[in-house]
Amino acid sequence: MEPGLSTRLPAFFALGLLTAGSGMRPAVAQEPVPWLEEAEEPELLNLSDDSEPWAWCYKKSLENGEQLPYNPRIYKRWHADKAWGTADLIDVLTTASEEMAWLLPQADPVVIGDISTRNGGRLDGHKSHRGGVDADVGLYWGEGQMFMQGFRNVSPKDLDARANWLLIRSMLDTGRVERILLDQALVRVLRDHVIETGELSREEAWRIFPATGDGEMWRQQGVVHHVAGHRHHMHVRVFCPER
Ligand SMILES: [Zn+2]
Repeated sequence: MEPGLSTRLPAFFALGLLTAGSGMRPAVAQEPVPWLEEAEEPELLNLSDDSEPWAWCYKKSLENGEQLPYNPRIYKRWHADKAWGTADLIDVLTTASEEMAWLLPQADPVVIGDISTRNGGRLDGHKSHRGGVDADVGLYWGEGQMFMQGFRNVSPKDLDARANWLLIRSMLDTGRVERILLDQALVRVLRDHVIETGELSREEAWRIFPATGDGEMWRQQGVVHHVAGHRHHMHVRVFCPER
């Protein structure tokens, strides 16, 4: 790290990405874990309760879930019955959305798609979203716009890099985000943005927005990384709650 760099680092570096605070491991340093969206091994769906600590919240159910409150000024919640998540996830979504309303008051409210059902379990159209730790979140395009009536593809040239970076940063600032999945073409735009604006050093930018790695998607490192088919929203996963 070059001298003096720490004084320019955004808050989230102090809060959790580079240091493991309050028992939560930073995503950049933790072991990659199987990711149900891409998992082909059927046994991943049959994890027992004494599986690895990270495993239980991927699999079947949501316990003590909270519902994302109705708050249309701050965010648009698509389906109330699919807006249930862990306390951490609900807090990440509300905190980041409130911060966006403050940082970019002219921007559209954040669009929040499927999370999980009240008790979790299989959710139509998703392989994950079972344990209240996954949420689909819209992407800003143009100048702070979001598609309100359903996710639509956003091309790299239409992506509002600044607004999406602010949203991602707000979520990472909570220290509770395990990873964010996004198509690599959009990851690249965000990485270029944070380097060009000087918000992050090259090294930091590549660590948060890595290149597409070899091998299975769920073995990828880095916080915001590639998954195919995510050009119209980002998939946000928070850490499993302590049990
Ligand atoms: Zn998703």
